Amino acid sequence: MQDLQGKTLIITGATRGIGRGIALKMAAAGCHIAFTYASSSKAAETLVAACQKFGVKVKAYQSDAADFESTQKLVEEVLNEFESIDILINNAGITKDNLLMRMSEADFDKVLEVNLKSVYNMTKAVIRPMMKQRKGSIINMSSVVGLKGNAGQANYAASKAGILGFTKSVALELGSRNIRCNAIAPGFIETEMTAQLDEKTVDEWRKAIPLKRGGTPEDVANACLFLASDLSSYVTGQVINVDGGMLT
Ligand code: NAP
Repeated sequence: MQDLQGKTLIITGATRGIGRGIALKMAAAGCHIAFTYASSSKAAETLVAACQKFGVKVKAYQSDAADFESTQKLVEEVLNEFESIDILINNAGITKDNLLMRMSEADFDKVLEVNLKSVYNMTKAVIRPMMKQRKGSIINMSSVVGLKGNAGQANYAASKAGILGFTKSVALELGSRNIRCNAIAPGFIETEMTAQLDEKTVDEWRKAIPLKRGGTPEDVANACLFLASDLSSYVTGQVINVDGGMLT
């Protein structure tokens, strides 16, 4: 297990699914955890207790990642509480699927705000403290859909493709300050987000995956652990696909 003892992670959207898996994996590696959520206060309390079992400091923050002012305040609060921020994982994301013909402007805007604008908000807030530390790792949750598109997900695909351009630009801007910025493109990971899909679609996804199974939050968390730790100290501006070979 990689040792992240004494480091602090801030992660958005960790009450469920992939974010929860990441928070637990990082806590198991000795990392202190500040995590956000939109509304699931009960799930947040449960996660705090689960992470505390690893003997690390943990705090949950109800904070809308899409709101610029809230995220700047959030990062200030986290810095006061934890003193440093070593790792940022921009994980919060939503879907509002529909064919473009039927996709409302509100649903397009909302997905872009929560999935992409949030990445700008959080990254903008952490880069100053990370520059002072002359070290940091930023990990952005994209998707295979951002690389190949998906019918019924023009808004989601656009947000996830946008994250890739953002990631590579930030990597170029901040490399000289020893701040790394990478993205992960998960494939079909079995969480509440994918539980919304009908059984037929899920079967089709599974058949198309060379490893013949859906991924788990832990599969994605393992890639995060690599990108967060010094094992990846010479890796920046990259996209790691965690998709069972889906895009091969
Ligand atoms: P999920 O189960 O739906 O969980 C989403 C998390 O984001 C929840 O903790 C939710 O908090 C939080 N959230 C939603 N809106 C927020 C906001 N405005 N501000 C702060 N937090 C917010 O999603 P998931 O499947 O774990 O996906 C996590 C990330 O991986 C997303 O970016 C998603 O696009 C990406 N991804 C997922 C898959 C997949 O197959 N599952 C594949 C590729 C990429 P509440 O619980 O309070 O609502």
